[in-house]
Amino acid sequence: MQILKDIESLQQWLSEIKKQQKTIGFVPTMGALHEGHLALIKASKKQNDYTLCSIFINPTQFNNSEDLARYPRTEQKDSQMLQNVQCDALFMPQAQEIYPNQNVLQLSFGYLETLMEGKFRPGHFAGVGLIVSKLFHLVQPQRAYFGQKDLQQCAVIQCLVQELNFPLEVIICPTIREPNGLAMSSRNQRLSEEAQQKATQIYQTLLNIQILIEQQQNPLEQQHLTPILKHLTQNDITIEYLEIVDAQTLLSLEYPYPKQITIAVCIAAYLEEVRLIDNILFKH
Ligand code: AMP
Repeated sequence: MQILKDIESLQQWLSEIKKQQKTIGFVPTMGALHEGHLALIKASKKQNDYTLCSIFINPTQFNNSEDLARYPRTEQKDSQMLQNVQCDALFMPQAQEIYPNQNVLQLSFGYLETLMEGKFRPGHFAGVGLIVSKLFHLVQPQRAYFGQKDLQQCAVIQCLVQELNFPLEVIICPTIREPNGLAMSSRNQRLSEEAQQKATQIYQTLLNIQILIEQQQNPLEQQHLTPILKHLTQNDITIEYLEIVDAQTLLSLEYPYPKQITIAVCIAAYLEEVRLIDNILFKH
């Protein structure tokens, strides 16, 4: 696997591939890789001649400097994992090269920034939009791969690609979970073993809400919501938001929930000061 530490080496690697008119699948990440990331690499390898992964802990998408400082960094292990799945190249630039100056450009995603992640992490999607735009311009892939775990990020990227006419296809891959249901996340590494066990109740809650909706009930009614929240509190989980939305628009849905559209139940919660998000999609 080629390790490309700056833009110049990336351009050199790309120029050979482009001369041969081969396709490139691109998987942007922030490292501390797990099976969720590797699933994106594997999906890209199936559909493209070459797969490039990037690892860049993007400072502009962190609205909390402590969260940025604590973000896990496991470069050696990451590059070994990528080699094991035969990823073709790893781009890991320095922040100084990506952001040589304080950026002036501010992307805004309108209403998408007023709900869920956008509401609780002000500026987060402006940072995501900026780094993903930069990376798309640098790499010019045919396809780019993202995880459904970050559902709102997928919506933001689809908006970016559509409205700025990036000539590439966005592929959304399903959320990969631990055998106990916990959605894989780089942040799980910061949880104690006990908390990792308790965190499984986040996914369990999503499944319970799906069952209630399938039974034509309203999970946000007091009689259902109170025990749901109590159970989470008993497991030391503090909810930041719990939303039932249209999976396409991410706009909140009212009971009775429509049958013809895909519903997303989305959650953000804290456990041992670690912020976790998860979601499930279904039709009923
Ligand atoms: P991150 O390194 O957290 O920025 O994630 C990089 C990419 O991996 C994003 O597109 C995420 O949505 C995706 N991803 C993270 N966790 C998972 C997971 N458990 N399953 C599938 N994709 C994931």
